[in-house]
Amino acid sequence: MAVRGVPAESEAVAAQVANLLVIQISHNIAVLLNDKDLVSFRAACKAAQDAVEGDAGALWRRRFFAWFETPQFQLTGQRKVDLANFKVKYQQRKAVLHVIKQIFQIRGNAKPTLSFDTGRRRKEQAALRVLRDLINGVQLPISNHFLEDTANIKTEAFSDKQAGDIQYNSKNLKRVAEFIQKTNILKILGKDGRDYFALKPSELPHHHTSLLYTIQCVLAPLLFCFDDWHMKDQSGFHEAQKMVYLDNITAPILTGLNGQSVNMTWLLKNIQFWRYHFLTVGEPLCPHFEGLEDNQRPDFWASQLRQGTRRLGFHWKGSYAFVDRAEIQIIRKGESGQGHNPQIQDKLNGEEDPDSPFQSVDLALCSTDDSSTWNRDFERHLNSLKTPKTKDARTRAQKSATGGPSNGEVDFATSSYRFDGDGNDYEEEFHMQGWLNPLPPQNGIPGWQRVTMMKYFVDKYDSIDMEALWAYEGIMFPGGMIMMGRWWCPTDGVGEEMYSGPFVLWNVPCDNECVCADHNEFGDGMGV
Ligand SMILES: [Zn+2]
Repeated sequence: MAVRGVPAESEAVAAQVANLLVIQISHNIAVLLNDKDLVSFRAACKAAQDAVEGDAGALWRRRFFAWFETPQFQLTGQRKVDLANFKVKYQQRKAVLHVIKQIFQIRGNAKPTLSFDTGRRRKEQAALRVLRDLINGVQLPISNHFLEDTANIKTEAFSDKQAGDIQYNSKNLKRVAEFIQKTNILKILGKDGRDYFALKPSELPHHHTSLLYTIQCVLAPLLFCFDDWHMKDQSGFHEAQKMVYLDNITAPILTGLNGQSVNMTWLLKNIQFWRYHFLTVGEPLCPHFEGLEDNQRPDFWASQLRQGTRRLGFHWKGSYAFVDRAEIQIIRKGESGQGHNPQIQDKLNGEEDPDSPFQSVDLALCSTDDSSTWNRDFERHLNSLKTPKTKDARTRAQKSATGGPSNGEVDFATSSYRFDGDGNDYEEEFHMQGWLNPLPPQNGIPGWQRVTMMKYFVDKYDSIDMEALWAYEGIMFPGGMIMMGRWWCPTDGVGEEMYSGPFVLWNVPCDNECVCADHNEFGDGMGV
């Protein structure tokens, strides 16, 4: 409709300008207003409400992208519900991350005072689910053939990142790290109030695989930072020391009905054990660990988490701990440092060698996974290609039939990756051969793998010294940057007879003097 005295042409321009202004204003609302002000603005009048909720909710989408990576629901192409999802997800996440308080008045909001305890309370669970969502965004597939189904599922933490970008380029991981600083979620590590010394070995909670423990494990790199985490509280070390020396029958690394659930309790005790040795002032390795360049310490993964990815970092740094054979039994009984017994001190690889306080190992995937060339003696000790037996087929079938998360066990014989390695131990060169077995998602987080490897020495004729084998079994954390587990002497026997201890290795980039063939900025020599 023409306005009197104003040429139609000018009117069109005015309308255009007005349109641009509306767009500009709503863009500013999207970007500039904080959540609290946004809510106040929205309540001011109908026009303000339209600006916030109009345009099919595009404003929420813009706010979402200012904070988070491209979400899984968009990657999977659910365009129709996208815009509504953006609003809901944005509010849920911001409420839990307690960047805001109860502004959005979502039912079941986690309050800013949220304090983690057992991880089982409803509010803790809601927050843990949001953290998991931020870490990976993957739903558990309801299928026994999960490897096929999920091979292409991307996780949203790095939705538009290429491998090699540093972790905090991921908005999601940045939000998670901010959240960690505000809560006690990593500070209650191992403080679940259980007296491990009072428990019989059979009562140890190796079936406990809660989402809280899983997320604490996944966030391990934050626990090896010096910034805010200098280890002052050493409570829990006795339990950790006992757990890491337990034999493979008493404390299996993999457990659950299908034998493919990671024993998160045990893994957390390993993290605690190494934190104590690396971060406690006065411990021999602490100054060496602190002296490492940032990129030479355990780090986050740098690309999207995926299920069953064939990749293995090239350079690894780490340590292993041991005590004398007689002392192991004292530790396993929980008697170290109790009563009249002195605290048994762990001996650590390299702790007396200031030139190489950490062990260095180079690992590389083999071009073929041909199991026919795999040493049968190694396999006998490691069971690298032997899929764990399902303990209770009936229960599992019922679970699948009810649409619950499938255990989705992996066939180790057909979906594993072989690798070789070299390293130096007290100036003696050793070799390694091993396998990576992809594991099902653990509590909804993909990318876990079982690692088995045999460390061996060869004589001048290149034959293996079968009397000096050291077996390793451990867990590769999602993202493939850290592995922790157990070494043992295969000639000593299993169960109570087992002579064993803990090890840790983490992937590091090439250093300046590196002359390796795979030398590149990230030194990861990743596989296919
Ligand atoms: Zn290198």
